[in-house]
Amino acid sequence: MFPKGTLLNPLKFHQMNTHCAGCGQSFEPEPGFYFGAMFVSYGLNTAFFIAVWMLLALLVEDYSLSTVLILMGLTVIVFLPLTFRLSRSIWIAIFVPFQKAATQNLT
Ligand SMILES: [Zn+2]
Repeated sequence: MFPKGTLLNPLKFHQMNTHCAGCGQSFEPEPGFYFGAMFVSYGLNTAFFIAVWMLLALLVEDYSLSTVLILMGLTVIVFLPLTFRLSRSIWIAIFVPFQKAATQNLT
């Protein structure tokens, strides 16, 4: 779905291929298709928040609210490329069914 070698580039991680190289499926079936991926992203970030909070509670005896908020902010920024790509991949996987036959025709 995404061009090779762009995951860690902060200016390019959001770039997407227009079509699947295997079956030709469009990666943007309609304008604004990925609007809903925002909700997947919200879920993923909530999971990150809970993980950060639990780790902090386990490792540090006494922490302030600002420590939690700063760590959560950093987590969101560090994981942004991953969250972005995962949420779009999950979103398209929900709405575009995988067809094994199309893959088999290639080999
Ligand atoms: Zn494909």
